[in-house]
Amino acid sequence: MYIKLPNRIVGCGFIAIVLSTFFTLSLAAQDSIPPPDVTRKLSAYRQQIQDDPEKEMVELKSIIPSILYDLRYATHNNFVKRPLYPVGTRQAFLRKKAALALQNVQKELAEKGYGLKIWDAYRPYAVTVKFWELIKDDRYVANPARGSGHNRGTAVDLTLIYLKNKKEADMGTGFDHFSDTAHHAFQGLPEEILQDRLLLRTTMEKYGFKALETEWWHYSLPDATRYELLDIPFTQLAPVKVKSKKGK
Ligand SMILES: [Zn+2]
Repeated sequence: MYIKLPNRIVGCGFIAIVLSTFFTLSLAAQDSIPPPDVTRKLSAYRQQIQDDPEKEMVELKSIIPSILYDLRYATHNNFVKRPLYPVGTRQAFLRKKAALALQNVQKELAEKGYGLKIWDAYRPYAVTVKFWELIKDDRYVANPARGSGHNRGTAVDLTLIYLKNKKEADMGTGFDHFSDTAHHAFQGLPEEILQDRLLLRTTMEKYGFKALETEWWHYSLPDATRYELLDIPFTQLAPVKVKSKKGK
């Protein structure tokens, strides 16, 4: 059935629809435009490491057997209260340069009775998109339009443990605690905690990592943009490493 509406009303309605569609589309575009250089195919990643072996993703326990994992995004125990990685994920990857640097950090900390526990390392790009859909606030999560150092395999979230009992050191806040208490500059904490934060920071920086002023647990390589943003699942990365080892 066709009902003729007065032209003026149709006109206003039409303009409103066009405008709202335009704003919705432009907002959606701003929020979700993927960077053009996300590597999604295993074959493309393999080509990249063939061209530059430094880009290999290394499973951390394969070269640092004593390192501990508590991969929070594979559990409900994280700030979005739901798993964003496949439950049961037991692998954490970083680019070779970062993994080797972490090996040195672990060695040096051991002399002082400490070790490292990993909360997160490489994060597939699709998970950054999921975070953004849930939170949409770049104070807390990376905007997928830029991607994150975690997507490049150059950023790691970690804490200190005591070697004698494998318990986490008290660092003043837990993981993903978004307040100024988590800032490196925050001094309103007991001396022992400030010393442990400083120990983690100075050791990480000694081996080439850069601290993030607002998150004491986050460290990254300064030359991150040399490495592609990846969207390769953990399960696919694992056999790549085995295969490249079996090769030449
Ligand atoms: Zn991080």
